[in-house]
Amino acid sequence: MSFTADRLLLFGATGDLAQRMLLPSLCALCADNLLAPDLAIIGTARQEMDDQGYRNFVRAALEKFLPAERRGSMAGFLNRLHYQPLDANETDHFAALADKVGPQDDGLAIFLSTAPNLFEPTIAGLSAAGLTHGKVRIGLEKPLGTCLESSREINDAVASAFSEDRIFRIDHYLGKETVQNLLALRFANIMFEPLWNAAHIDHVQITVAETVGLEGRVGFYDGAGALRDMVQNHMLQLLALVAMEPPVSYNATAVRDEKVKVLRSLRKILPEETVTGQYTAGAIAGQAVPGYADELGKPSETETFVAIKAHLDNWRWKGVPFYLRTGKRLPARKTEIIIQFRPVPYSIFDARGATAQPNRLVIGIQPEENISLSLMAKVPGLDRGGIRLRPVPLDIDMPDAFAGPTKRIAYERLLLDLVEGDQTLFVRRDEVEAQWEWIDAVRASWADKGLAPKTYTAGSWGPTAAIALAERDGVTWHE
Ligand code: NAP
Repeated sequence: MSFTADRLLLFGATGDLAQRMLLPSLCALCADNLLAPDLAIIGTARQEMDDQGYRNFVRAALEKFLPAERRGSMAGFLNRLHYQPLDANETDHFAALADKVGPQDDGLAIFLSTAPNLFEPTIAGLSAAGLTHGKVRIGLEKPLGTCLESSREINDAVASAFSEDRIFRIDHYLGKETVQNLLALRFANIMFEPLWNAAHIDHVQITVAETVGLEGRVGFYDGAGALRDMVQNHMLQLLALVAMEPPVSYNATAVRDEKVKVLRSLRKILPEETVTGQYTAGAIAGQAVPGYADELGKPSETETFVAIKAHLDNWRWKGVPFYLRTGKRLPARKTEIIIQFRPVPYSIFDARGATAQPNRLVIGIQPEENISLSLMAKVPGLDRGGIRLRPVPLDIDMPDAFAGPTKRIAYERLLLDLVEGDQTLFVRRDEVEAQWEWIDAVRASWADKGLAPKTYTAGSWGPTAAIALAERDGVTWHE
C-alpha cells in the first residue's frame, strides 16, 4: 500500500547503530528538508528517559557522529523527537508506546534496530497494541537469523503481522550510491551489456576487506563469523546485482525477481572451493595489533576471513567463476568489484612483440566510490624497437563526476524509502532465504570435512591458501 508515514518509531533508539547511523541520517535528511514537516520520530529502548532527556542524548550523538556542515539547525530535528521507555519482552509495555505514538492516520513506519531475538516479542507487543494495521510498515536490521531455519522463524513471525509489501529488510549496502550505480552502469549504457556474459567475461572478483578486528562486537561476531556476517548478505547482494538479467523496469518487484533468480542459481560449492582463516597478531599500518583469540580472550573456531570460488548455473554465467573474499584485519579497508574481461580473440600485436592485456573494470564501493576501466593503448613513440602497449585507466571518480550532490550515509536513502514506502532497495523474503540456503550448504560442507580456519597474520591478505584458490585458475586477486 502506498503511503508516506508521518510517524517513525525507532526500536533500539539508544544503541550503537542508532547513534552512529540512524539518527545522524535522519538529522541530515531533516537539514536538507527531505523529511515531511509533520514527521514525528519516537525512540524506544529500556533506558528510562523523558523526551527532553532523549533529545539531549541525541544531540550528543549528533555532535559526535554527524559533521557540523550536515547538521543544519539541530533544534528543528530535535523537536521532532519523542521517547518512550519499553522492554520489548514485556507485552504490556506496548500500550503506553501506542499512546506515545498517537494517531497514525497517515501511516507509521517502524524500524527495528535491536537484536533479532527481540523481533518476535516486539511483533507480539506491536500486535497487542494495535500497531500492525494496514498503514504500518516495518524495517528490519540484519542479521535475519543465523541459518535458513532461524531466518524462516523470524520471517514467519513478522509475516504473522505484516504482509510482505509492508516488510523492509535492510541490507545497507543497497543504500550505497555506487551499488545503485551498478544498475545504471549496466542498464543505462549500451556498451557493457552485450559483453556482460561468459563469452566475454573471464571471472568476477568481489572483495570486502576490513582493517578492524572485533571492535567490541564480541557477543555477535564470535560464532557468527565472516561467512554469515558479510557473505550471506552484502556480498551475495553485490553478486546478484552484477549477475542479474535486465529487469523489465526499475521497480521493487522487477529488480528483486531478477536478483532472486541469480541467488537460486548459485551452485553448491565443494569444500576445496573455500578457504577460511583467523588472524593472529600482526601489524596494520605500522601499528601492532593482537590476534583474534587474544582479543576474544579465549581460543575460537570462528572464521574472520573467507574466500570462495562461487559458480552460477545459468546460461549467462556458465563457466565464469565469482571469487568472493572478505576478512578482518586485512591490510586495507576496501570494497570493490572486479570484472575481468577475456583477451581479444586474436592479437595483431603479438608478432610485433606487444601483448594486449585483457580489459578490466574495477568498481570501487568504499572507501572511495569510483569506476575504472583499463583499456590498452599504444605507448607513444616511433616504435623503432617494436610496438609497446600499456593499459591506461579510464577513471570515473564519482564524487568528482558529480561534484555538488552531498555524499550521503547509506541509511539516509533507506530510511527515506521506508517512510515513503519504496521497497526497491530492500531484500525480499525469497532472496534472504535463497541466500541462507546456499550459506547453510557452505557451512555444512565445512562441518563434513571438519574444516578449521587457517591462521593468517593481521595485516596480510589472508591465508596463503586463499591466494592459491585463485592462482590455481591463473587468477590473481586484485590488490
Ligand atoms: P546495541 O548497541 O547493543 O543497541 C541495542 C539497542 O536495543 C539499545 O538501544 C538497547 O537499549 C535496546 N534494547 C536492548 N534490549 C532491549 C529490550 N529488551 N527491549 C527494548 N530495547 C532493548 O546494538 P546495535 O549495535 O545498535 O545493533 C542493533 C541491531 O543492528 C543488532 O541486531 C545488530 O546486529 C544490527 N547491526 C548493527 C550494526 C552496527 O554497526 N552497530 C550494523 C549492522 C547491523 P537498552 O539497553 O536501553 O534497552
